[in-house]
This record gives sequence, C-alpha cells and structure tokens, in this order.
Amino acid sequence: MKKDDLEARLQSLRSLLGPATLVAVSKYSPVEDVVEAYSCGQLEFGENRVSELKEKADYFQSKNLLNVRWHFIGTLQSNKIRDLFKVPNLVAIHSVGSMKVLHELLKRESEFQGSELKIFFQLNTSHEAEKSGFETAEELKEAVIFLKAQKHSKLKAFGLMTMGAIRSDDFEASAIKSFKDLKNTRDFVGDAALKLSMGMSQDYLLALKEGADYIRVGSLIFK
Ligand SMILES: *Cc1c(COP(=O)(O)O)cnc(C)c1O
Repeated sequence: MKKDDLEARLQSLRSLLGPATLVAVSKYSPVEDVVEAYSCGQLEFGENRVSELKEKADYFQSKNLLNVRWHFIGTLQSNKIRDLFKVPNLVAIHSVGSMKVLHELLKRESEFQGSELKIFFQLNTSHEAEKSGFETAEELKEAVIFLKAQKHSKLKAFGLMTMGAIRSDDFEASAIKSFKDLKNTRDFVGDAALKLSMGMSQDYLLALKEGADYIRVGSLIFK
C-alpha cells in the first residue's frame, strides 16, 4: 500500500476521533504495511491471532520500533496464553469472554513480560453463535469484581468490549443496540471508569456517537 494513501486514511479517521483512541486492526496486512502505518504516527495496533501477533511484534522489536502498543482482540484459547504473554509491548486484551479464560490468564501471569496489562471484558451483545463473550451482564460483572479483588495482579480491569451484529437486516440499528447494551452494562457493573471498546469499520461512527473510548478499525485503513 502507498504511504500517502495510508496517511490520508489515518488522518481522516483521526479527525473524527475526539478523545477516543484508534486501534488500527492490522490482521489483513503484512508487517511492512504495519510499519508504514507506524511511521505515520499510528502506535496502537490490534491483532486477532496470537501467532500472527507474535510474529509482527517480534519484527517490530527486532527493528527497534519500540513505541508500538499491541492489542489482542481475538478469541483466546487457553493453549495460546503462553505465547500471548511473550508478545513484546502487549498492552491490552480486548476479548476476555469467560471466567475460565480469566482464571487461565491469572494462573500464567508471571509469564507476562510487561508491567501492566489492560483487560477488557467482552459482552456478546448480538448473540450470534460465532461471537464469544459473556452472555449476560451478571456473569461479566462477577468477572470484573473477581479481577478487581486481585490487588497485586498485573492484569487490570480496564474496560468492556463488544461487536455489533455481522448479519442483520438493519446493521445500524443492531449496532446501536449493541453499543447501548454495553453502556448499560457498565452502569450495571457500577464503575464509570471502565472504558468502552466498540466500533469497527462499518459502525465506528455510531460507536463514537455512543461514547466509545476505543474503536478497532481494520479494513478501512488497510484494505
Ligand atoms: C477484524 C476485527 C476488527 C476490525 O474489523 P474491520 O471491519 O476490518 O474494521 C475489530 N474487532 C475485532 C474483534 C476484529 O476481529
């Protein structure tokens, strides 16, 4: 991809962000394109597969591109946690969707390289079968409370995450509903400091309007 194009796309997204943070989802792109985006000043990147994330993060490390901040956004399998914790400059996991995964992360946290890891709890607001995440606000709340009670953990209860429906007759209406559900869940948890990670290429404008703190945009930047 041409650097000018990339820069223009990033620029137009940034102009709409306000105080929100753009996580550029680089899963479709070879690492060279991710480096280009980095050289345009984009520092936060998201990946949904541990192996690919590890490869790209190691490459950045080897080139001394040390201001990069990696976000894991994919469904997490227990047998991948070890590798995930070896990723240099991993700052956040957006996709903790069950108590089981939370327990596994805590069990292995001594293997985490950094000093602090932001945890987002994923809520399945669209209830599509292929989506992961907590199915109810009650279950999610329990997990948040459990993590907050681990006072000495490097894992910090930092936010909530959701995705709008993929298949829907009216994707805008269902995205808005998903985003409102996530906000209501934050109220239900009772911690206004929790950040909201919501909005992708097709619905990030709606998400920003609903108060997203983090948007995760891929295709619009890299395709
Ligand atoms: C791929 C992905 C994105 C980005 O999707 P686009 O539609 O390409 O912007 C955001 N969040 C998650 C969890 C993803 O897997």
